[in-house]
Amino acid sequence: MDHLDGNVLAGPITGFFDFEPTTAQGQCQSCADIAALGQAMVYGQPMGFVARCGNCDNVLIVIVERAGQKSLNMRGLRWLRVADPVEQNRI
Ligand SMILES: [Zn+2]
Repeated sequence: MDHLDGNVLAGPITGFFDFEPTTAQGQCQSCADIAALGQAMVYGQPMGFVARCGNCDNVLIVIVERAGQKSLNMRGLRWLRVADPVEQNRI
């Protein structure tokens, strides 16, 4: 099955957080690899997206969209690091 790159997560994740999701970094719970979400392998589903670790294929994030609701499961990430938009505007 072909996969999309992690940039397709931009729209779904923006609805949850006020940061640039493609540049946020996360650590894989399975292999401890640290990478930008934009580097994840993303598989589209009829109801959402599944983002997998580009190093070990672990499921990092699941986004389900249905009936006007969205749910986000990030249990495959050990942590997610985002840039502080206030600090970025000072540069
Ligand atoms: Zn991994």
